[in-house]
Amino acid sequence: MGLCNMLLKKGHQVHVVVPNEYPVYLRWMQHNELILDFIRQKKSASQLICSASLVFFVDFNSIKRMDEISKVLDCSNAVRVLIDHHPYPQIKVDYAFSYINVSSTCELICDFFREMGWLPELDKNIAECLLTGIMTDTGCFMHASSSAATFINVAELLAVGADKDRIYNSVFNNYSYHRMRLMGYCLSQKLVYLPHYKTAYMSLTKEELDRFQFETGDTEGFVNIPFSIRGVVVTALFVEKRDFIKISFRSKGDYAINAFSEKYFGGGGHKNAAGGESRISMDETLTKFQQLIAQHAQEILAASID
Ligand code: 5GP
Repeated sequence: MGLCNMLLKKGHQVHVVVPNEYPVYLRWMQHNELILDFIRQKKSASQLICSASLVFFVDFNSIKRMDEISKVLDCSNAVRVLIDHHPYPQIKVDYAFSYINVSSTCELICDFFREMGWLPELDKNIAECLLTGIMTDTGCFMHASSSAATFINVAELLAVGADKDRIYNSVFNNYSYHRMRLMGYCLSQKLVYLPHYKTAYMSLTKEELDRFQFETGDTEGFVNIPFSIRGVVVTALFVEKRDFIKISFRSKGDYAINAFSEKYFGGGGHKNAAGGESRISMDETLTKFQQLIAQHAQEILAASID
């Protein structure tokens, strides 16, 4: 939305298409009404993609991650620009602004604005969109991904009035009561700790999600919680969706969880934060995961940072 709002300010006609539903607590950004959810608005989103002269791909770099949108792109002759920070870009584009050591795509968009000479046009609304992306991707600067450059960019955003406290409240203190209960349930009933493998994981079935009136975004952040157990190096969260199990993986130090996710769960992501999918039952998926963790125990223990 930061990129969208800057392009609008510069007089362009802009539309934003997301592959699926995004959380309510992100819907306060300027021009949120321009966002089309591809799953719900397939026809109009497809028409817009086909008729666009320029398409930006932001914060992903593999066609696989676009679900059905990738088919629509075949009809488009648009110039393609990638702005992304994930490793191993796989999308064919005309211009790639792809740097894996940058904390977030929103930080890269700050860099992009700087390179384009657009920083003087940055305003509070644009800055708040970008600061949200930086805060969420860095876990509010807790993860190993932020650098001196991140803070320089954040300073630019704060200088034009971005309200970090309001963003924090809007994003992190804006969940439902049910989400809090779901988190409590997940931690007390569903946490599995494998101390010999420095691994901890949790899983949630559809029935459990329904019981706690799950809304999109409610399990965001759960995967990081088991890191507060001393010594944990690998965490995972398994969430049952309609026809597959979505998995979030996290690791610490040198253990590359993206390679693990890609090899065994058709996924990918960053070295320490990745995701994947499983199309077997939850029980079978968890058994498979435990077996793989046992198989990789040596590398996981070697990566231990304490
Ligand atoms: P999260 O666990 O927060 O959903 O995702 C963590 C990271 O892994 C993000 O950078 C996300 O883009 C990436 N990721 C999540 N799921 C997948 C997947 O199925 N495939 C790939 N290639 N990356 C994923």
